[in-house]
Amino acid sequence: MKTYDLIVIGTGPGGYHAAIRGAQLGLRVLAVEAAEVGGVCLNVGCIPTKALLHAAETLHHLKVAEGFGVKAKPEVDLDRLGGWRESVVKRLTGGVAGLLKGNKVELVRGFARLTGPKEVEVNGERYGAKSLILATGSEPAPLPGFPFGEEVWDSTRALRVEEGLPKRLLVIGGGAVGLEFGQIYRRLGSEVTLIEYMPEILPAGEGETAALLRKALEKEGLRVRTGTKATGYERRADGLHVRLQPAQGGEEETLVVDRILVAVGRRPRTQGLGLEALGIALDERGFVRVNGRMETSVPGVYAIGDVAGPPLLAHKAMKEGIVAAENAAGKNAFFDYQIPSVVYTSPEWAGVGLTEEAAKRAGYKVKVGRFPLSASGRALTLGGAEGLIKVVGDEESDLLLGVFIVGPQAGELIAEATLALEMGATVADLALTVHAHPTLSEGLMEAAEALHKQAVHILNR
Ligand SMILES: Cc1cc2nc3c(=O)[nH]c(=O)nc-3n(C[C@H](O)[C@H](O)[C@H](O)COP(=O)(O)OP(=O)(O)OC[C@H]3O[C@@H](n4cnc5c(N)ncnc54)[C@H](O)[C@@H]3O)c2cc1C
Repeated sequence: MKTYDLIVIGTGPGGYHAAIRGAQLGLRVLAVEAAEVGGVCLNVGCIPTKALLHAAETLHHLKVAEGFGVKAKPEVDLDRLGGWRESVVKRLTGGVAGLLKGNKVELVRGFARLTGPKEVEVNGERYGAKSLILATGSEPAPLPGFPFGEEVWDSTRALRVEEGLPKRLLVIGGGAVGLEFGQIYRRLGSEVTLIEYMPEILPAGEGETAALLRKALEKEGLRVRTGTKATGYERRADGLHVRLQPAQGGEEETLVVDRILVAVGRRPRTQGLGLEALGIALDERGFVRVNGRMETSVPGVYAIGDVAGPPLLAHKAMKEGIVAAENAAGKNAFFDYQIPSVVYTSPEWAGVGLTEEAAKRAGYKVKVGRFPLSASGRALTLGGAEGLIKVVGDEESDLLLGVFIVGPQAGELIAEATLALEMGATVADLALTVHAHPTLSEGLMEAAEALHKQAVHILNR
């Protein structure tokens, strides 16, 4: 049996970070991958969706640009768009494979099964190690009444725009994945209806910025229906007749569409791994239970990323991979980080830390500062002034508690807020930091000033 210091199962963001950090720390590492190197994020998640969103935004900008005199008659070649999307994916997955190799991580292709706490079987071969890291990720969760197939798509199928755009698309789920695809298809020309079970899109719970994003999407013709559920559908000559109902039940109505995208969440990929035999504990939703060191209930076996529970985000998986690998190398690392989240629609949405509501529940005396992007010079020069930057702070200590942004580049701006939270910054620290003018990031400083009723570019009320 070949033996290693560390075996990592899965080479998504979590797995390849764990494998590379393990190797950097001098461990002999084996990585096992059943499908494509790079996992969901690189192959069928973050990267291809962002590529499509960028293309859709470029198209949209050309329309906005007419307002300042740039005229064009854009057309989209869907084959080329699909080809470009795949070329971006290939370049990045090739990069990860190169990084694994360059770090002397051995890579075995095949489905790994645990045959002991220190042993794995792949393609009939056995491999042993002192530590194991489970990084097997997640897969689209099905919705009762909507089995995946030709008519009912998962997010992976929805990426393949080159196979044709449905005239009418129903997106079920108002989380990041549903919203991003909803906007992609809308901007490429489909009629899109998006339904969300909860009273507002984006279950992250920041109602004010979520409502602004929703409004912006509706302005583009995306129909958003919240507090609504889909209970089933049938195929008829004129399309798919989907039954919709208020979330709490009540009168049914029918919506006729050509395709349905189910984006209601993801479930952990643990099947066939052999976790039960080892006694590795799962939580009630099937995610692998871990402690702050990313260790499972079996010592020496770690779990990271989507399989270890929400939030199901790539950057969370990456940092957890680092923590697990450091612990496998004998260090004592702990996962205790602020995790920002971003929706890459335009306008983008981003948030980190506590919402106003969550901060109140946690017992803070909450104060909020807001800066609308309609007052931002930079936003105006970019041709759009939609958006809001919202800063949540503690009135007593002035500690910064959370930041929520809807607007262009929100995903880039949130990094500063995340650093501020990690550094224990006060709202005054944000306000005292000189931000370049004119930039969108100034809005963060102004929102902090607004919390103290001293913003300059808006009236403080
Ligand atoms: C459409 C979409 C868009 C997304 N966009 C974003 C985004 O913009 N930003 C963001 O942060 N997150 C995004 N995500 C989420 C992100 O993709 C995941 O959080 C991330 O990929 C999780 O990484 P992971 O390493 O835990 O697992 P995964 O990326 O799921 O990788 C797991 C890997 O393990 C392999 N594997 C599983 N079981 C075995 C086995 N037994 N043996 C061998 N190999 C195995 C799989 O083949 C897979 O390659 C998106 C997801 C989707 C679906």
